Amino acid sequence: MTADLESSWRNARPAMAGVHLDSAACSRQSHAAIDAAAAHARHEAEVGGYVAAEAAEPVLAAGRCAVAALTGFDADDVAFTTGSSHGLDLLLAGWQGARTVACLLGEYGPNLKVMARHGFQVAVLPVDADGRLDVDAAAATLAADPPGLVHLVLLGSHRGIVQPVAALADVCRPLGIPVIVDAAQAFAHVDCAHLGADAVYSSSRKWAAGPRGVGVLAARRGLVSDETLAELAHIEANVAARVGFSVAIGLHVAAGPERIRARLAEVGALTRATLAELPGWRVVEAVDEPSAITTVVPPEGVDPVALRSWLIAEHRMVTTCAGVERAPWEMTRPALRVSPHVDVTGEELDALVAALRAHPVG
Ligand SMILES: *Cc1c(COP(=O)(O)O)cnc(C)c1O
Repeated sequence: MTADLESSWRNARPAMAGVHLDSAACSRQSHAAIDAAAAHARHEAEVGGYVAAEAAEPVLAAGRCAVAALTGFDADDVAFTTGSSHGLDLLLAGWQGARTVACLLGEYGPNLKVMARHGFQVAVLPVDADGRLDVDAAAATLAADPPGLVHLVLLGSHRGIVQPVAALADVCRPLGIPVIVDAAQAFAHVDCAHLGADAVYSSSRKWAAGPRGVGVLAARRGLVSDETLAELAHIEANVAARVGFSVAIGLHVAAGPERIRARLAEVGALTRATLAELPGWRVVEAVDEPSAITTVVPPEGVDPVALRSWLIAEHRMVTTCAGVERAPWEMTRPALRVSPHVDVTGEELDALVAALRAHPVG
């Protein structure tokens, strides 16, 4: 069953020139998604861009439907954006309530900038030593001093910990505090359909394996102002990329989101167990954390920026250097992020470990 998922996922896309361990940055697209986007661009040339956009509406509607199913919203509540940051920007720009927000210690650095730009004051919710939200302590904090909204990154860019968002949403509901979820890393990776949030936003290119430059925002009616939604409907958009994303997410649903989630949790465990063999390196997540994002802190003297480049140049292995700016309040040292998709093999992870062992220290 699982072997089937791995090979069909791999066979559905172009061959990788090396080893791809970077789905948290950008997954590899399928032939079907690439071809659909290309066919739409061709159709634009044949019939005109605006006529082609009308013809593509059923595909885009199917894409919104799939996003709705995966986030627990109605299709009418889903809008295309240019990415996760755009989704947050839209939500905060027209915010009607108090401009105070509570978030995690590991809040994504660029999100903090968006919050500051819109005049939000940020408070930090209590977390444990791993950076996982302490729901009971947070409940007390929120009840004592309710912010205008709670913003939670369900799964971090800098750390593969899945946060207990649904439990906190249960706390916020009776307090009347809206909950917004950054699902940039969580969408098409962990369950986002039962969060009980007021808004969820994400990107196409990460675990959903769609094209770059597309995102989605699902929000309960009234949370985003009508003016903002009307503007969004009329700004220029890369329709071909939205078509590609709609196809990608359709394939995700067809492959079985639950099956993909289970396999990604297995991939995370395998990655962490394999990397734990490296002396001097520290794997940040617990082995069984149910995500496929693994971060490792290198020994003193190894610069992850240079290491990432070296892995590409010498071994054709793509990873990410996660600098402290990704979670400026939580990270004290940069880490190497390893984020394979469902098709990774044990040999590929062994090859990464062998490469890292051979990397000069100091
Ligand atoms: C990638 C990422 C974003 C930003 O997504 P874009 O599509 O680049 O705007 C936001 N939050 C998290 C947690 C991310 O990993």
